[in-house]
Amino acid sequence: MTQCAITSKGPEFTMERTALYPGSFDPMTHGHADIIERGLRLFDRIIVGVAVNISKKPLFSLEERVGFLEARFPQAEVEIAHLDGLLVDEAKRLGCVAILRGIRNGSDFDYEFRMTCMNGHLAPELETVFLMADPEHLFVSSSLIKEVARFGGEITDFVPEDVAQALGERLGDQ
Ligand code: ADP
Repeated sequence: MTQCAITSKGPEFTMERTALYPGSFDPMTHGHADIIERGLRLFDRIIVGVAVNISKKPLFSLEERVGFLEARFPQAEVEIAHLDGLLVDEAKRLGCVAILRGIRNGSDFDYEFRMTCMNGHLAPELETVFLMADPEHLFVSSSLIKEVARFGGEITDFVPEDVAQALGERLGDQ
């Protein structure tokens, strides 16, 4: 979509800039939500790409993972999509100019560094943009939240209410 701004040099038309934020989101946390909200300061639109095939068996189905994100982000600037192919091909197919990722620590960085080099090689026209995790969410990961929930720990500070409830129902009895 094009946008028009009136500047001192007359009307200026700009293309809407969309970023693809890919991940497993099994389930989404406040850390993920923070990256999406801050990403919207840089991009006109964010497409959250939920991985169809993730190496570990996910706790939540694709539909459930998508549903949590849709409930948290009903606004038009955030779209939720299924990702089922090579990331750079999916980003191009969806009309994105960049891939958005969050970084919490050194191991995130090591992994992301290699991925970014490979993606840059495969699709030099796509930039990868990293946002550092908010200090409040540095230690938050979907896997740690599931571990805490499995042992009945309090997780309501880290995930939306519907996610906390679903985690309790799915893991509470284990
Ligand atoms: P993946 O399996 O691709 O790592 P995740 O759902 O775990 O999928 O994470 C998706 C993206 O969100 C990654 O870039 C990850 O670093 C980032 N992320 C995850 N948790 C947080 C958090 N607490 N704060 C900031 N970024 C996060």
